[in-house]
Amino acid sequence: MISVKDLHVYYGLIEAVKGIDFEVQTGHIVSLIGSNGAGKTSTLNALLNSVKKTGEINFLGYDTRRHKTHTLVRHGISLVPEGRRVFINLTVDENLRMGAFNNDENYEHLRSQMYRLFPRLADKKSQLAGTLSGGEAQMLAISRALMSEPKLLMLDEPSLGLAPKIVGEVFNTIVRLKEEGITILLVEQNAFAALKISDYAYVLENGKIAMQGVAKDMIGNDEIRRKYLGA
Ligand code: ATP
Repeated sequence: MISVKDLHVYYGLIEAVKGIDFEVQTGHIVSLIGSNGAGKTSTLNALLNSVKKTGEINFLGYDTRRHKTHTLVRHGISLVPEGRRVFINLTVDENLRMGAFNNDENYEHLRSQMYRLFPRLADKKSQLAGTLSGGEAQMLAISRALMSEPKLLMLDEPSLGLAPKIVGEVFNTIVRLKEEGITILLVEQNAFAALKISDYAYVLENGKIAMQGVAKDMIGNDEIRRKYLGA
């Protein structure tokens, strides 16, 4: 679905991503894992063409460099950003409306689907998003991203700051979305949880890919266990 070649990302003189190649196969969950500042978020932003970069990014035949972020969303890439970034002064319902900015005709149908997927959000649909718990806000951020009917859903640190039980719920949701046919690119510091649900994974270190492989093999890899799984 997506193929990236020799990607570099720059913030002024800082080179945050230093020439990486990777692929995401249709129907897979692919994880990018790595410590703070490794370049994971910058990579996701590069796929949405919202940072300065060089290299080739091909999404379902589109050269993404030629398109603005909102056009890429229309073509089927959607991001659940780090820290959720729901609109805290808008209601749950209004947040979903914002997610459907390019998808007016299916809005009602999709909104009902989101409330079926996350019944807790349905109970709070008229509440301001700023009053939600961390877990509910994460569910809302995922729903908002799904309102554009993405083919590729990118999630940036969805487990960050959530209680372990809620982390489990979020990861179960990601697996469910895969089963419904959505391809997933997952950025996580919680490497163990990410590897457990992924098909394939890349490890980013200092802007470069240090390792890659089938996710279940990586759980058994000594170096990965030592560096990222606390074992
Ligand atoms: P984290 O989990 O901490 O977000 P990450 O792996 O997602 O880590 P990035 O956020 O992509 O890493 O950051 C990669 C590097 O780029 C870091 O050194 C970071 O300080 C730098 N960086 C990120 N955003 C900017 C920015 N807007 N301006 C300058 N430097 C930045």
